[in-house]
Amino acid sequence: MKKKKAIFLDRDGTLNRDVGYVTHLDDYELLPRAGDAVKKINDAGFLAILVTNQAGVARGYFAESMIEEVHEKLQKELRRKNANLDAIYYCPHVPLGSENLFSKDCEMRKPKPGMILKAAHEYDIDLEQSFMIGDKFSDLESGWSAGCRSALVLTGYGRGEFETNNEKWLREPDYLAEDVYHAIELIFSQI
Ligand SMILES: [Mg+2]
Ligand SMILES: [Zn+2]
Repeated sequence: MKKKKAIFLDRDGTLNRDVGYVTHLDDYELLPRAGDAVKKINDAGFLAILVTNQAGVARGYFAESMIEEVHEKLQKELRRKNANLDAIYYCPHVPLGSENLFSKDCEMRKPKPGMILKAAHEYDIDLEQSFMIGDKFSDLESGWSAGCRSALVLTGYGRGEFETNNEKWLREPDYLAEDVYHAIELIFSQI
């Protein structure tokens, strides 16, 4: 059986507006072309997989159940655009969080590649043929560490990361895009 290809997607600042920690469902709003971007991934036969750090749980800002609620709303809004996420991975942990249960240095937390590696194992994904899209350096680093190519979007924290935080870049983004839709266009035009 041929291995699958995937587009790994960050959530906040990439698919939805980054409003800091999403603590209420009303704060959650998709970016304008995010639904179309995910549909493009679906139509191309790639898996669309969300990988998101949600340290707000470990910091005591919201309950873990809030993450599930947000992801239900996200999937509902995507389906309205005939788009679908094939899988969702999140890491609620952070070292030295205020909530003991979630306070740990987790292998899943980006910039570590744990969520991508887990998805690759569970869905039989060829990581060299796969891509990570995010608005932070840590997103791109997790993609690179897993063996993917990585795209930076200029939505969310992206512009700041690219313009003022660039001394910490270990390498240039493989793709630089205005938003997630543009990132998908760039990636699919080159493969
Ligand atoms: Mg983000
Ligand atoms: Zn974790």
